[in-house]
Amino acid sequence: MKKFRVVQWGLGAMGSGMARLMLEKDGLELVGGIDMRPDYVGKDLGEVLGAGRKLGVAVTSDPASVLDKAKVDLVVIATTSWTKEQMPDLKRILSAGINCISIAEEMSAPEAQSPALAAELDALAKANGVSILGTGVNPGFVLDLLVVALSGVCHKVERIEASRVNDLSPYGPTVMKTQGVGTTPEGFAKGVADGSIVGHVGFPESIRMISEALGLGVTRIEESREPIVSKVYRETPHVKVQPGMVAGCAHVAVGYANDKPVVKLVHPQQIHPHLEGQGTGDYINIFGKPEIHMSTGPEIAGGIATMGVAVNMIPHVVAATPGLKSMCDLPVPAALMGESAYRRRV
Ligand code: NAD
Repeated sequence: MKKFRVVQWGLGAMGSGMARLMLEKDGLELVGGIDMRPDYVGKDLGEVLGAGRKLGVAVTSDPASVLDKAKVDLVVIATTSWTKEQMPDLKRILSAGINCISIAEEMSAPEAQSPALAAELDALAKANGVSILGTGVNPGFVLDLLVVALSGVCHKVERIEASRVNDLSPYGPTVMKTQGVGTTPEGFAKGVADGSIVGHVGFPESIRMISEALGLGVTRIEESREPIVSKVYRETPHVKVQPGMVAGCAHVAVGYANDKPVVKLVHPQQIHPHLEGQGTGDYINIFGKPEIHMSTGPEIAGGIATMGVAVNMIPHVVAATPGLKSMCDLPVPAALMGESAYRRRV
């Protein structure tokens, strides 16, 4: 089997996990790693990944030294959440004539926030004969692609309500700050107002994907962020929450078509939800014909699933027609377990 040659750009929590997953796959060959961390640069990629063996390629902070289309089929990039911030790096990948998968939340549907940047990426990809996809667990899978796929049996859809209830406890200090965990309710309100507490990144993107795929005609999206105030003491290695303080953020987004709410997405994220009897899970409700109620519990594991879907999409993105793609444009993702999974499908 001819292997897909992949470079991993960004070797943080997600990027290093994806790179390790690539090492387990018969149809993938990890041919390079890019990161700017001084403690990684120059070291063997296998050593940085803790893979237990050397890979014979050093981690570099100089993308130009590895972006050679004769040697690389695709770059997976895991550096930031924001399209604008990732734009210079995405342009370098596409200009080099190499396909790209990004897990930046905004890249799931970049046209939702930045139509101009989306058009620029689409044009650049087409000019260079390659494709670019944004994916991840959410946005990219649970609250958009799964919803769209379930609607595939419906005669009609009147409205959709989906929620993902998860546990933030495994995450680090950045996530605690951006979700407002450990603040007071007043501090939470201030953080939402000044933009330092953002909640979930990805609702406009997910609603855009659902609306476009089904033709729901959403023209307006409203978002609200409320503090989840704890009744009990909760603690992680990064934050302590006394009763009365904020344990998480209940983020809701509603998409309207002609002033009628047609898509409601709910994502309450908090540390240790079980301490107040709250289980975790993913719930999709489609009201129409037939009515559909799907639930999984506990939640589909976010980090593992992000690594999985990004790596599993590699053959689809290499095979895709040139341009900017979303998860709704490409064949269904499937775990890469054997040779037939790697066959090029368009
Ligand atoms: P992280 O902070 O652990 O890792 C980021 C890595 O990228 C770091 O090693 C950093 O040194 C490196 N880096 C950043 N900018 C770089 C640049 N321009 N060039 C080279 N290296 C650079 O973050 P993470 O947990 O791995 O997540 C990465 C991003 O993916 C985050 O923004 C996160 O929100 C997003 N994400 C999205 C989903 C989804 O469902 N779509 C899921 C998980 C994570």
